[in-house]
Amino acid sequence: MLKLSQGELCVKRKAVLISIDGLGDRPIRELGGRTPLEAAATPTLDMLASEGVVGLVDPYAPGIPCGTDVGHLCMLGYDPADVYSGRGPIEALGAGLEIFPGDVAFRCNFATVDHDGKVMDRRAGRIRDGVAELASHLNNISLNEAVTAHFAPATDHRAVLVLRGISLSPHVSDSDPGGNNEGMAIQPVQPLDTTDAARRTAQAVQQYLTIARDVLNQHPINKQRVMAGQLPANAILTRGAGIVTQCTPLQDRFKGIRCAAVSGEATVQAIAKMAGMQNYTHPGITGSYDFNGDLKASAAIHLLEDNDLVLVHVKATDLAGHDGQWARKKTLIEQVDKMVSAIKANIHPDTLIAITADHSTPCEVKEHSGDPVPAVIWGSGVRADKQLTYGETACSFGGLGRITGKDYFHILIDLMGFSQKFGA
Ligand SMILES: [Zn+2]
Repeated sequence: MLKLSQGELCVKRKAVLISIDGLGDRPIRELGGRTPLEAAATPTLDMLASEGVVGLVDPYAPGIPCGTDVGHLCMLGYDPADVYSGRGPIEALGAGLEIFPGDVAFRCNFATVDHDGKVMDRRAGRIRDGVAELASHLNNISLNEAVTAHFAPATDHRAVLVLRGISLSPHVSDSDPGGNNEGMAIQPVQPLDTTDAARRTAQAVQQYLTIARDVLNQHPINKQRVMAGQLPANAILTRGAGIVTQCTPLQDRFKGIRCAAVSGEATVQAIAKMAGMQNYTHPGITGSYDFNGDLKASAAIHLLEDNDLVLVHVKATDLAGHDGQWARKKTLIEQVDKMVSAIKANIHPDTLIAITADHSTPCEVKEHSGDPVPAVIWGSGVRADKQLTYGETACSFGGLGRITGKDYFHILIDLMGFSQKFGA
């Protein structure tokens, strides 16, 4: 697609970036020493590989297992060291809370404590019903020293707390005693350095937790739970403090590029929001096993009309990796192949297609590993290599070589015509 830009002739192309969560894997004996991707029937992915350029991507750095949040930050060209500070801010965005630079955010649990403040159940019997109602009474609370507390429910017994005020710090300890430590008391929140900001933040959290216990103890939902023999959600536990940092949106980094994301997972939606992307949601698009390739394909096709870059995220492959289900992972990859085929058939022929993953989740490990992930870029302008298939081994011989997630994104942005020249 040719466009005039600031008096110069500039080739600009759109792109769809497909993130197959946890795609990378290791050889599986039952698959004849192949990975689920290599064993899967993937005619479209193989066609893209044979006509395009492939390589191996270390999402952050070789041998470092990444979380989905960090993996996607890297995939969008960010350095997590610049923009990533604890899980709290990511969870807050995922829960729909507005956050601003300088806010300190915490992951929280509704928990059950006894009269002495000992944690009887870190998840309050995995409470789900009534959580939104309880959370509404814990939101918008004014604390000492002009700090305000914002609180929102997340999934099941989880929630997020955001503290807003002048000079706050993420360097405070967790009140959550942690897994396997039930029976221990709620831990006092301590500053982890000698700054005034850490001291003020620790005091604010402590004050908030006391208020929360009073509010929760008196709430009818908890009285009903006790009557019904259920554990009351009578305390909040905090962990994972992180400060919200300034994250330059993609449009400000790359010549006004317009970006959107299709994902059913709150973490990826949060990263997309941080990057200034428009989030597309639909009740049929989930972050679970019920992968709906048709819905995601039609969303991507639609979004490409008004955007330059569309990120399409598929979560189910990662879940299969965590569950050690290689056959299921293989089948899911075959469904992704069909989704990519549907996207390719319905977009402008000049549109680039890039496919990679945020990290490997090998079925034998059942966790994220530091193995690099296979990557491909296909489309006009791409200098093809000699690899014919999309798989971990083939990608290790590809023209992209072995690069980081940030490199991969910059290569894609450059092919799209949105890169900035380095030097005169
Ligand atoms: Zn992931």
